[in-house]
Amino acid sequence: MQHIFDMIVIGGGPAGYTSALYASRAGFDTLVLERMAPGGQMALTDTIDNYPGFENGVDGFDLGVKMQSQAERFGAKTEFADVTDVDFTEKIKKISTTAGEFFAKTIVVATGANPRELGIENEKEYAGKGVHYCAHCDGRFYKDKTVAVVGGGNTAIQDVLYLSRIAKKVYVIHRRDSFRATKIYVEQLKKAENIEILYNSTVESIIAEERVSGITVKNSDAGEKKKLECDALFVSIGRIPATEFLKGKINLDESGYIIADETTKTSENGVFAVGDVRTKELRQVVTAVADGAVAVHFAEKEI
Ligand code: NAP
Repeated sequence: MQHIFDMIVIGGGPAGYTSALYASRAGFDTLVLERMAPGGQMALTDTIDNYPGFENGVDGFDLGVKMQSQAERFGAKTEFADVTDVDFTEKIKKISTTAGEFFAKTIVVATGANPRELGIENEKEYAGKGVHYCAHCDGRFYKDKTVAVVGGGNTAIQDVLYLSRIAKKVYVIHRRDSFRATKIYVEQLKKAENIEILYNSTVESIIAEERVSGITVKNSDAGEKKKLECDALFVSIGRIPATEFLKGKINLDESGYIIADETTKTSENGVFAVGDVRTKELRQVVTAVADGAVAVHFAEKEI
């Protein structure tokens, strides 16, 4: 006889473990399927300053581990496995993973979103050796050095402002002639003395031996290419939701996010989407954990 869980949570970030906490505390037989380690993207952030209750900030990795322990105190279990397929067509849902098949009455998808890559040569090879995707995680390694940030959205501009307080010089490389980011951030950017903006520009290549030593940038107006010496390239061009395994199984928007409103209910009965993976305005730890609680509130009716 196959074991049927009340709830399977896919993804062990803050949204996932909050769902697991609320579900297990309510007495539901709950399993979390996690690929690597608890915490999700949060675990890559060294100090989280905007999560209430930690007056001096909190290490993202530590917070992830604490969230896992708290859910497990009430009986939630964790299985480390990659989900390869799902079947939501029956009342009892099936999740296929690298560790076998699992069954549950309700599913919470909490797989989050990963940084978008530029897709240029050397990018993967030098990831962590000068190519970075999280300024708040890795910026501190570049004190008094020169760094470049590519992107023009809110995340990129916040990354630039953060890095300008650490690095000697920050180049901003943006593919258009105006920023997508909110005006208030852009104004701060223009005031900083150690920031140089390169509009209508794209990163063509990464120059590196053991580590990154520069980049080549192409300007689309003049068509000219120039070499910039820098110690790091921070890629901040948006994120891609981790929903590849859900294509054709659940309604996604044009960017791949699961369509779900504040109730966290998806197009499939008994399947809920929480945290960064669902369509929402503000993707933060605090909004992710709120989703986790809401999903269990509605899932209770299905169990
Ligand atoms: P985003 O708003 O989608 O911006 C992505 C940026 O990267 C855009 O400037 C885009 O250029 C550029 N880009 C995309 N693909 C590129 C490529 N292949 N090569 C070069 N450039 C590329 O993403 P985000 O900044 O990560 O923000 C995500 C969401 O979170 C947004 O809704 C944002 O407002 C929100 N957010 C809010 C705050 C806040 O404080 N309120 C902070 C962070 C994030 P184009 O402009 O030319 O498309």
